[in-house]
Amino acid sequence: MKLSVDPERCYGSGDCAYRVPSVFTVVDGFGAVRPGREDAADDPQVREAVEGCPSQAITVAE
Ligand code: SF4
Repeated sequence: MKLSVDPERCYGSGDCAYRVPSVFTVVDGFGAVRPGREDAADDPQVREAVEGCPSQAITVAE
């Protein structure tokens, strides 16, 4: 499963990077998945970050 952030939805709250800084970061004011961590979707903390994104901008593709 592949994690990604939809820049059209993200408004840069930074919640994801605050919750799981090893997987998410903020680049130019928008949330982003750290390079090489796109496969971290199975991590329970990442799942919480996905569900906790206030704009539902983080997607998990099968
Ligand atoms: S939690 Fe959602 S809205 Fe906030 S920075 Fe991350 S992806 Fe963007």
